[in-house]
Amino acid sequence: MGNFRNKFIRFMSGRYGVDEFGKFLVWAYIFLLIVISVIDLFLNSIAVLILRLLLTLLAVYAIWRMFSRSIYRRRNENEKYKAITAPLKSNLRLLKNRFRDRKTHVYRKCPYCKAVLRLKKIKGKHRAACPRCGKSFDVKV
Ligand SMILES: [Zn+2]
Repeated sequence: MGNFRNKFIRFMSGRYGVDEFGKFLVWAYIFLLIVISVIDLFLNSIAVLILRLLLTLLAVYAIWRMFSRSIYRRRNENEKYKAITAPLKSNLRLLKNRFRDRKTHVYRKCPYCKAVLRLKKIKGKHRAACPRCGKSFDVKV
């Protein structure tokens, strides 16, 4: 077992491995595999066959990326992926935090710089100062 492990480590040296984009591809594969399997229950046609073929290509691409020696290019792809998904991830994080803090805090957008502020949930009308732009504005909770 240790021998196999060493061989694998030697095999992977100089190869790219797994990154965030790679993980996304694996999850996309699993998700699409389930979707296509469900479609297959209702529809038995050439379309399903084509979808399965495309899915296989996706898997081949994900595996090829992992074993690729063009580390620089793969890293650039990952950076592009991260740039595309960053706004989505930050929105999801905000949504999660809003739900977590729903009993103790409110989230309000600064009318001047559009920064999202986390304010203590105290009933009534208050004056809040934005820590980013320094301007004050009225908040109703
Ligand atoms: Zn502001």
